[in-house]
Amino acid sequence: MHSPSTISEATLLLKNTDDSKALAGGQSLVPLMKLRLVSPAHIVDLGKIPGLSYIREEKGHLLIGSMTTHNEVATSPLIGKRCVTLSEAASRIGDHQVRNRGTIGGTLCHADPAGDVPAAAVALDAELKVAGHRKGRVIKARDFFEDVLTTSLRRDEILTEVRVRVLPPKSGGAYLKLGRGASDLATVGVAAVITLDKAGACKDVRLGLAGVGSKPIRATRAEDALKGRAPTDDLVAEAGERASEMSNPSSDIRGSADYKREMVKVYVRRAIRQSLARV
Ligand SMILES: Cc1cc2nc3c(=O)[nH]c(=O)nc-3n(C[C@H](O)[C@H](O)[C@H](O)COP(=O)(O)OP(=O)(O)OC[C@H]3O[C@@H](n4cnc5c(N)ncnc54)[C@H](O)[C@@H]3O)c2cc1C
Repeated sequence: MHSPSTISEATLLLKNTDDSKALAGGQSLVPLMKLRLVSPAHIVDLGKIPGLSYIREEKGHLLIGSMTTHNEVATSPLIGKRCVTLSEAASRIGDHQVRNRGTIGGTLCHADPAGDVPAAAVALDAELKVAGHRKGRVIKARDFFEDVLTTSLRRDEILTEVRVRVLPPKSGGAYLKLGRGASDLATVGVAAVITLDKAGACKDVRLGLAGVGSKPIRATRAEDALKGRAPTDDLVAEAGERASEMSNPSSDIRGSADYKREMVKVYVRRAIRQSLARV
């Protein structure tokens, strides 16, 4: 176990050690180690690096440090006011213990396709600031998730900050989740953000789906059903149909693929209506 006190020390350790893993809140890494699914030779603990836990607003963006816990995100008045989709996604993770230890950076880097915050990050067009041994970069959420538990992070890279644009006026959002209980990943999760124009037509619509593919899905064809139009019941239903067509769920303990496709229709409709009610 290594306990670096700076980001550059951490990235150097990740670069120079074979088979190493960063440790944030441990809520995904430790269960995987307990099941012997991963056995890293080196653990690089990010918990002693100061300055990675914060929430602030700057130039129209919310900036969230990667070590900020799910509970801090879920209960932040600033995030609740400026980006309710993200607060709701964080509030639906596991139980209090998990939310008190788990971090926004950890859940994004873990990249579980049924994770709540990854779907919200995709819908919100979040930008992920990453530090590497030599240089940093910013990765768009849609380019970050590659496959089940796989991201575009390089071996020596650490996610340091999540950036989300503050929603403009006449916007509403929601994250709705169908799960089997308090402490379960999403059977289906839907993150929604909608902005209306002065005439009440949908100026911007963004939808992210959890649990129905090998990575969080941006339901662009469903968004297109509503963009530029007044959101009638028929169009909202059409968006649900299109989102379901874009999903690619597997049958598992949470339900059959057919059941999940049906639930995508229901939860997309509900998330859109909830978002519209909040505009
Ligand atoms: C009982 C239980 C219930 C749960 N329920 C849910 C749920 O309902 N919804 C949900 O979405 N999740 C759920 N989870 C999963 C969990 O909440 C998150 O995946 C977890 O919080 C990940 O964050 P962490 O800080 O604990 O990351 P860790 O476990 O420390 O790390 C996870 C992975 O990310 C990497 N990593 C962490 N931080 C960084 C970083 N800054 N830069 C680079 N790599 C990094 C690690 O190397 C590791 O591979 C549950 C977990 C448990 C144990």
